Amino acid sequence: MRDLRKDYVLDKFVVVPPMSDQVSEEKSKEREVKLRDNSQKCRYCPGNESMTEPALLALVVKDGMMQRLTDSEDNVVEEWSVRVFESDNPIVTTSSLPATTLYTDRPLYSEPAYGYHQIVVAAPGHNDKFSQLSVEQWTNVLVVLQDRIRWLYTQKSVTYVSIYINSGLDQDVSSAHPHLNILTFSTIPPTIDLEAEGFHKFMNENGNCPACSIMSVESSGPRQVLATDSFLAFCPWAPTYPYEFWIFPKRHITVFSKITQKEINDLALMLRATLGGMSKALKDAPFNLVFHLSPEKKNSKQIHWHIEVYPQVNGWSGLERGFGVYVNNIKPEKSAEILGSACRKELASLVGIT
Ligand SMILES: [Zn+2]
Ligand SMILES: [Zn+2]
Ligand SMILES: [Zn+2]
Repeated sequence: MRDLRKDYVLDKFVVVPPMSDQVSEEKSKEREVKLRDNSQKCRYCPGNESMTEPALLALVVKDGMMQRLTDSEDNVVEEWSVRVFESDNPIVTTSSLPATTLYTDRPLYSEPAYGYHQIVVAAPGHNDKFSQLSVEQWTNVLVVLQDRIRWLYTQKSVTYVSIYINSGLDQDVSSAHPHLNILTFSTIPPTIDLEAEGFHKFMNENGNCPACSIMSVESSGPRQVLATDSFLAFCPWAPTYPYEFWIFPKRHITVFSKITQKEINDLALMLRATLGGMSKALKDAPFNLVFHLSPEKKNSKQIHWHIEVYPQVNGWSGLERGFGVYVNNIKPEKSAEILGSACRKELASLVGIT
């Protein structure tokens, strides 16, 4: 198990390999050999299920009905639409604590990096990009995410469930296969903590939710990218990345796992249209997509949940890395104009308006 360390003074998390861990060193060597031997084979493709951990959830869609199945010792579920299993290179684990993992105090704070790390393969097709999946397939993915979130929050030591996509930032043949990562932590990650604090302060001072008032400002404004029945996509006023955009549910809701089936369908359409439009406007630029959700266990840290998308079109300089000041060479109003036009076209073709 790795260690989760905090900075001397800042609330910054860093996950590092343990001081000395024979087992994990051997395991990572084993993994390297395995990866080299199978370097041309994608572990996430149908037919290669035995190369991953058993499926914790395999969603099979038959005659419009969703079946939630799991692999057993003598049966591997085939013909799946979405498949979830434990990562074979986990950042956090639930395996028993090795003796080397210590809890220590500041300034050298560390704790075991305990948690679940699951991979969600978003579609059977190796080349099914997130920007090209069908809206139905996106719906299947979102249903699986809700299922996983609900299950993970019933587990002890799960304080926060983080969900993210790295797309086009491939390290091996499998990482090119569309997939999401789900990672849990026993503490709330710093960015969520900061956002929740900001929300709380705004609520106290203004009596309403900041996201709800941001949406009344951004809706139909110069930074709007796309609007559907239940969701609004816009480029934020002060984006960290060029072409960054956020997707918010229009109604005030803090818990993603409680959104309705109708909202799921609408979100699937929104994601497909914006990612499709973005990939055309930015020529398939790599991106990260993150879900910023409230923690679901009894907690005062609540945010109006949302999705943030960070296209990766240029690198950072010393100013960004060293001072937290971001220089953006494109105005968010201009980004919204470019993305908006591409995303509206995409939406029109998806809903059959030409
Ligand atoms: Zn594949
Ligand atoms: Zn709100
Ligand atoms: Zn956020």
